[in-house]
Amino acid sequence: MTISQPVDPTRAGNHFFSNYPAYSFWNAEQLPDVQKVLASPPEVEKPLILYIHIPFCRQRCEFCFFKVYTGKSSSEVRFYLDALLAELEAAARAPYLAGRCPDYVYFGGGTPSYLSSDQLSELFGAIQTHMGWDGVKEVAFECEPGTVKEGKLQRLRDLGVTRLSLGVEHYDDEILEMAGRAHRQKEIYIAFEAARKAGFSQINIDLISGMVGETEQGWQDCIDRTLELNPDSITVYQMEVPHNTTIYRKMQEGSEELAPVADWETKRRWVDEAFRAFEHGGFKVGSAYTVYRGEQTRFLYRDSLWHGADMLGIGVSSFSHLGGVHVQNHPDLETYQQPALAGEAPHWRAYSMDSEERWRRLFLLQMKLGKINLGWFRSEFGVDPLLEYGPLLEQHCKAGWLEELSDTVQLTRAGLLRVDSLISEYIPARHQTSHVV
Ligand code: SF4
Repeated sequence: MTISQPVDPTRAGNHFFSNYPAYSFWNAEQLPDVQKVLASPPEVEKPLILYIHIPFCRQRCEFCFFKVYTGKSSSEVRFYLDALLAELEAAARAPYLAGRCPDYVYFGGGTPSYLSSDQLSELFGAIQTHMGWDGVKEVAFECEPGTVKEGKLQRLRDLGVTRLSLGVEHYDDEILEMAGRAHRQKEIYIAFEAARKAGFSQINIDLISGMVGETEQGWQDCIDRTLELNPDSITVYQMEVPHNTTIYRKMQEGSEELAPVADWETKRRWVDEAFRAFEHGGFKVGSAYTVYRGEQTRFLYRDSLWHGADMLGIGVSSFSHLGGVHVQNHPDLETYQQPALAGEAPHWRAYSMDSEERWRRLFLLQMKLGKINLGWFRSEFGVDPLLEYGPLLEQHCKAGWLEELSDTVQLTRAGLLRVDSLISEYIPARHQTSHVV
């Protein structure tokens, strides 16, 4: 008997576009360019993002492709925090960053809420001491629902967190268990209620369309429950199976060719259904992945990064983008902590972009917003993306993925739902990768 295959199955590989040029083009030979930037005078007019990376989690999720650490002792966490604080102090002294207060602060991971309330207070205090706090406009913080109780959330609110993001992903305990998530439905409701009580100006809920075991009814339930909670913004990702995940290893062991998750058409339809329901509930679509309630609940960190802000990433494997140069820290605790504690930059690999690569990176990132203002590229970079991308834009207009307006390129909903695969067509041949298998 022949079993028919889905039209566009989810195969192993990573489709999600996060940076340009891809990390595989970064190397140690370009590290001196980072030092040159750091030694140069500060660009005080340029917005600055501070990203703090906490790599610990209670459990490793089956679909997670980040380098995360589970089961670390309190002394190991303490050792990491010491390294992180030492890196922050040394970085803030560099001439390029000296005197520049961050405009946006983002705590990501891993699970930043894995830290205790007192460790968080210490971390916030160090940022204020070394970089200042007066100009901070948004403080975003990622949480795993099972790691936050009322006291910790109140502390985060008091410390200045404005955007609390809860990694809900799904409400069904069976699906959460299959995904290896550490939390269950009950903890979602406890965390959400406590977060509302603490008074954050924006609570975001993360969901994933196409988790292992997902059904039509289950996804509808996920949408309904999210609407009932009534958060300020919602982020919906489409499930992928990157190579360095537990789910991929299981596929290999079972000689499975196709991932046990829904095909792409189904995942896109589910996101579309969710977006429609959320729009009906008063949300606006803000990007390929997010809906939000109003101007006060925009995601400022993301918008600023995708419009060319500098970003200082602190912590193991974190990424920085400073003065047109990408740099990533060492990817392992062992290789990161030693130089950081010694006050040396724990940099691992870098990429120095030329002027063409700088505007292309932002063009590709802004595609994810669903709207590109071509006039902005003319005034910021003196380039007209139409000259470079005219035929491709026209082709994608005909295919129904986007509409080209006078000075704006607008993605249609169909285009937005497949934006990561569309973006790959705009990447120049010399920077194409074969990371999708
Ligand atoms: S909680 Fe987040 S970072 Fe941690 S393992 Fe799960 S997906 Fe990865």
